[in-house]
This record gives sequence, structure tokens and C-alpha cells, in this order.
Amino acid sequence: MTELIDPFGRKVDYLRISVTDRCDFRCVYCMSEDMTFLPKADLLTLEELDRVSSAFVRHGVRKLRITGGEPLVRRNIMSLFKALGRHLDSGALSELTLTTNGSQLARFADDLYACGVRRVNVSIDTLDADKFTAITRWGKIDQVMDGLKAAKRAGLQVKINAVALKGVNDSEIHDMVAWCGGEGFDLTFIEVMPMGDIGNEQRIDQYWPLSMVRAELASRWTLEESDYVTGGPARYVRVKETGGRIGFITPLTHNFCESCNRVRLSCTGTLYMCLGQDDAADLRAPVRASEGDQLLDEAIFEAITRKPKGHDFVIDRRRGAKSVARHMSVTGG
Ligand code: SAM
Ligand code: SF4
Repeated sequence: MTELIDPFGRKVDYLRISVTDRCDFRCVYCMSEDMTFLPKADLLTLEELDRVSSAFVRHGVRKLRITGGEPLVRRNIMSLFKALGRHLDSGALSELTLTTNGSQLARFADDLYACGVRRVNVSIDTLDADKFTAITRWGKIDQVMDGLKAAKRAGLQVKINAVALKGVNDSEIHDMVAWCGGEGFDLTFIEVMPMGDIGNEQRIDQYWPLSMVRAELASRWTLEESDYVTGGPARYVRVKETGGRIGFITPLTHNFCESCNRVRLSCTGTLYMCLGQDDAADLRAPVRASEGDQLLDEAIFEAITRKPKGHDFVIDRRRGAKSVARHMSVTGG
């Protein structure tokens, strides 16, 4: 096995896989309401996704995260989880996980556990039912709450992801900390990132730096520094009053690139070496060119030599806010 080491000496041991760009929600910061989705023929089949993921595992990737779009709306997605679960059984993989909006969790929680999934990230930006529908446009919070109950019952550890949105959920962050503490869920706040055209919504109006979120939280809760790490970019604190953890993903106020260990595969087989850069490598052509994996392996190693030092995200009034043209749903969160 040869490991994937980039030109800056960072070992790539984490692959995020967006299995579809489609979604049953239309979150205002993620998509416009009338999104155009990729033709289905452009997508890698589930077998091809397994082949590419397994090539990464062969080269030292220890953690796979399935994301999207909404991963659980891809037809027959459990067959991919089942297939990838074999790498957990062999010990090659230490974690298989997913990020979901939770709408389909009630249906799939038990199956996910059976495939070896132990932790799920569920995105919920508000606990208010009307606000939830306003943010997601098409979502119903009760459906997600049922999904969370099923996840708990199945034995899945849940982390809630909340995008910090100025003027939208800023009044609710304390309630979210209390709720997550009571449910035993970790909570991670994410800064809104300038990715893709989102119609009339303005990023600048949405952007709420997490330094300010953290200061607000500290006015009510005792935040203790924590060295907890998950292999992701969040920095964690422990909330003394609830015993729960809060993570902060701060691509804009704090650049986390120096410890970046991951790359992202889109559902069409395009490998993005950085969430915030446009450079990419096509892995679909080598996968389809031959049945053996030599061309695929070569393409992967070549791509890793192009992993950039970091992203150039900016949100400011003078320079505007669009840093990469593709939506988060293309490369996953
Ligand atoms: N549909 C699933 C979900 O919502 O969890 C998985 C895909 S979604 C693209 C992954 C994460 O990215 C979600 O937590 C979502 O809130 C976040 N996200 C989407 N667009 C974003 C943006 N422009 N800036 C920051 N986070 C974003
Ligand atoms: Fe769908 Fe997730 Fe994007 Fe919301 S954030 S529109 S749930 S992909």
C-alpha cells in the first residue's frame, strides 16, 4: 500500500463522497429553489462509487463520509453502505459515516447501524417549525425529529450541524445548546461559505462570524477548552452545564487548511482536492477506461500532487462573496 501524501506533507486519510447532487430540501444558503440537477447518466453508478472509494481505502484512507445533496434520497443507497462496510470488517477503515438532512433517517437508521455506521451528522439550523420550513423551503421539522428518534433508538451517535445565519437563527443558539445537551447530541456551528449561486439570497447578509457566535455562547454557558478531535475541521469546547460538546467550523474567520487531511469526490467522479478551489481531477474516465484499477490509482496519485495549500474564501462587501462557482451539494459539506 502506498499512502497519499500531498506536496505539503499532509497525509490524506479522509474521503468525502457526494453520492448525489439532488435533495428533497432547498436550503436557502445551499441551493436556489429552481436548481438544475445533473443528468442521471453523468453520475457514477453505486458500483463505481464503491470502486473509487475502495481504491482510496487501499491507499490509506481510514475515514469515509457519505454526503450529497441528500445521500439518503439516492436510490438503493444502502447497497453502497453495505459494500463499504466490508472495509470496516477488515479493519482497513476506521469509520464510515454520513451527513444527512435527517428526512429519511426514520427509514434507514437501523440499516445504517447494521452496515457499521456509528455516527451521523444531521443538519438542523433551527428548532422552530416555521423557521425550519423557511430555511429549508421544503422541509418539515417533525419528519427530521422522527429521524433523530430512530437514529437514537438504533444506537447511532448524533451530531447536529447548524449553519450560523445572521438574523435567522441567532436568537436560538442558546436553545440549541440546551436541546443538544439534553438529547446527548454534539453540536457544530458552521460559517456560511461562498459556494454557488443561490438566487436572491445574499451571502453577506447571511454571514455571521463564529467568533461572534462563540462570544454570545460564552455569555450564558461555561465553555471549557477541549482537545477532542474527529478528523474533521471542527474545533471543540465542552459545555460545563450540559456536558455536551460544541464544535466550530470556521473556514472564514480561522483558516484550518494547515491540518487538512481530506479530499472530496463528486457524484460524477470528479475529485476536488480542496473545498474552496476549482481545480479538480476526473476519476470517471480512468474508472470507465478499464476494468483494472491501475489507471484509477495513477489518476488519484496525480491528483494528490495538486492538492493546494489552502482555500481563498472571502465574504466582504468590496470583493463580493462568490469564491467557487459550484454548490456545496456538488462536493458535499
Ligand atoms: N443534505 C445533507 C445535509 O444537509 O446535511 C448533506 C449535504 S449538505 C451540502 C452538508 C452540509 O453543508 C450541511 O450541514 C449544510 O448545512 C452545509 N452547507 C450547505 N451549503 C453551505 C454553505 N454555503 N456554507 C456553509 N455550509 C453549507
Ligand atoms: Fe439539501 Fe443539505 Fe443543501 Fe439543505 S444543505 S439543500 S438539505 S444538500
